[in-house]
Amino acid sequence: MSAAPAASVALEALRRNCAEVPLLTLGEDTAPYLTDHRRLYHGQALAVALPRSAAQVSALLACCHSLGIAVVPQGGNTSYCGGATPDESGQQLVIGLGHMNRVRAIDTANYSITVEAGCLLAHVQRAADAAGCYFPLELGSAGSCQIGGNLATNAGGLNVLRFGMARELALGIEAVLPDGRVFQRLRSLRKDNTGYDLKSLLIGSEGTLGIITAATLKLWPPLRRRATAFVAVADVAAAIALLAQLRAAAGERLHSFELLPRAAVELACRFIADTRAPLDGAHAWYVLCELSSFVDEPLDELLQNALVQASSLGWVLDAALAASEAQRRAFWSLRETIPEAQRRAGPGVKHDISVPVSALPAFVAEASAWVRREVPAGTLVAYGHAGDGNLHFNINWLGGAAAADVARQEPLIRRAIHDLVVAHGGSISAEHGIGRLKVAELQHYTSPVELDLMREIKRALDPKGIMNPGKLLAP
Ligand SMILES: Cc1cc2nc3c(=O)[nH]c(=O)nc-3n(C[C@H](O)[C@H](O)[C@H](O)COP(=O)(O)OP(=O)(O)OC[C@H]3O[C@@H](n4cnc5c(N)ncnc54)[C@H](O)[C@@H]3O)c2cc1C
Repeated sequence: MSAAPAASVALEALRRNCAEVPLLTLGEDTAPYLTDHRRLYHGQALAVALPRSAAQVSALLACCHSLGIAVVPQGGNTSYCGGATPDESGQQLVIGLGHMNRVRAIDTANYSITVEAGCLLAHVQRAADAAGCYFPLELGSAGSCQIGGNLATNAGGLNVLRFGMARELALGIEAVLPDGRVFQRLRSLRKDNTGYDLKSLLIGSEGTLGIITAATLKLWPPLRRRATAFVAVADVAAAIALLAQLRAAAGERLHSFELLPRAAVELACRFIADTRAPLDGAHAWYVLCELSSFVDEPLDELLQNALVQASSLGWVLDAALAASEAQRRAFWSLRETIPEAQRRAGPGVKHDISVPVSALPAFVAEASAWVRREVPAGTLVAYGHAGDGNLHFNINWLGGAAAADVARQEPLIRRAIHDLVVAHGGSISAEHGIGRLKVAELQHYTSPVELDLMREIKRALDPKGIMNPGKLLAP
């Protein structure tokens, strides 16, 4: 990237060329935009711009492109890998999308909704609901993350097993390219084979190729029935056997399949008020699974029969079926508060990994043995979306540890766990992206050909390298 202009010159140009865009420059106004959700990174910014339309984003990027001002797009700022935080130079412009939060259209006959990028995920879910439809993307951060951020990170979450990741939910996008041109592809088509899939390239690019300003998303009919169970299983192999059995018994009705170790349940019960373990006794592993249906059919019975059969095969040790909506919510609340419980429990090291579902038992066994041997003071809390092979393979220091000590050990631990992930055919970033946290890891584990292609794409779309520098790709 070429040398940035002096701050005063850059600000003067932004004020002159983008006079209608609110620009925050005072410390107390910009502070919330300068630190990431996990408080791993603390940056500085030239200013924070809060555009209200794609035209305003276009004017901002055209100005930044011509002057060589680096830009950091920011949605709800819930990134787990520092993707939306500016660096420490004070020369980057943060563009916050939160003011672009309108639902532009809902087409119930086409089962699609068009929303601006700054809509909160929870807002999109509610808008779909109000129109008698269902939008299936579901993350613990739904009340704070934005749909633009979800698409920019290709977010996953709790319902990937049935509905796929954010990319699979998008029919079209509108995005502003680094030089200010607007890429208009807000089509709502299920079939559209007209050349390269540029929409998919921008999705998951973490703000390094452009700024998503709107999207057309798929909707489904409303869910009529759900059946949810909290299940104790002997080990990870038994959980994976149960997964296969539920798939066979329920087919596409299998909505979610989460794996939780006892340590995760205990942490949630200890640190989160009003949280209780759903089953008596202590078991090594638990599964939280849910079936759903668009039609009114006896799902509880289906789930119960499948669990009885799995129990006769020795995979299921105990189970509680949610008898009410309140109980269902309590099961999910326990699952969704694990990250917060971990945060309160003290310092830790986090990995967002995936392996083929069939490789999960061997991976967990090997990686757990490594942690027991090499990090004896750490407690493994490996939980997550096991139905799609994704685990948050985290280690907490429950006996207490200085954050600096944990940070010192982190690179070695991360490399060892990621080596094992790759040996099992897995990914070092299942759903959170690369951001700032995993730039070196991406560089280390990606083939030269793939890295070359990524750099060539980046150069073609962003020749001046102004978009989110220092994120995703190493300079
Ligand atoms: C409690 C909690 C639970 C979570 N659970 C999950 C989960 O289950 N699955 C999961 O995948 N993630 C999860 N996350 C992580 C996070 O919520 C997701 O990555 C989310 O998609 C980020 O959205 P955001 O709007 O907060 O984006 P931000 O954090 O603001 O930005 C993320 C990245 O996208 C870029 N970006 C943001 N908006 C745009 C835009 N409009 N155009 C271009 N680039 C943009 C940023 O530059 C940055 O690189 C969780 C986070 C929390 C705090």
